[in-house]
Amino acid sequence: MRILVIEDEERIADFIQRGLEGAGYLVDTAGDGQTGLLKMHNLDYDLLILDLMLPDMDGLTVLEKTRNRKVSPPVLILSARSEVEDRVRGLELGADDYLVKPFAFEELLARVKALLRRGQPVPDRLVAGDLVVDCLRRKVTRAGKPIDLAPKEFSILEYLARHKGKPLTRTMIVEHVWDMEYDGLTNIVDVYIRHLRAKIDDPFPVKIIRTVRGTGYMLEAGETAGQQAGGSE
Ligand code: CA
Repeated sequence: MRILVIEDEERIADFIQRGLEGAGYLVDTAGDGQTGLLKMHNLDYDLLILDLMLPDMDGLTVLEKTRNRKVSPPVLILSARSEVEDRVRGLELGADDYLVKPFAFEELLARVKALLRRGQPVPDRLVAGDLVVDCLRRKVTRAGKPIDLAPKEFSILEYLARHKGKPLTRTMIVEHVWDMEYDGLTNIVDVYIRHLRAKIDDPFPVKIIRTVRGTGYMLEAGETAGQQAGGSE
């Protein structure tokens, strides 16, 4: 998940960047509207955090310009201005949420998570090797055999499959699946991974859930078999 923060006050931009990076997001910053628009032109962001008072242009102008683009990420407006008109205009222009400075980081994080959840396109199904995760029906098959998973097991597997080939930390898994702050809950993840392995890996010769030492877990990408399975719609 990549987030762009357009904010000219360095102190606030740093505060947001450090906090969100700590929460596992990739964060870029821009100190003015023009730079921000340029970055959005070059990269696809999953979320835009936009300050209203920028040195070169009004944040609402930035918002208007992003809305002309084919694909535009959800926008969280950030501003010291708490006037009702700004809020209303921002929302009219298509902002998704509004946060008035000063704010607690926890509040920002909660809104960021909510917006990312909402904005995330959900693929119908994810494929890794001979494993198929049907995201709509919440069903899983491996080598064509249906596998029964508990809801949390499914959520973990879906999360791993969405990021197949990339190691995910226990913290990321906890925060994604249980939607709460990491609080020494790594055991939960290990327990669920054990359950998942019993169903997904143990009955099959090729193991796809990998333990990444010192980090967490990763689903093998299984490129060759994956292409095969992916083409059979
Ligand atoms: Ca500002």
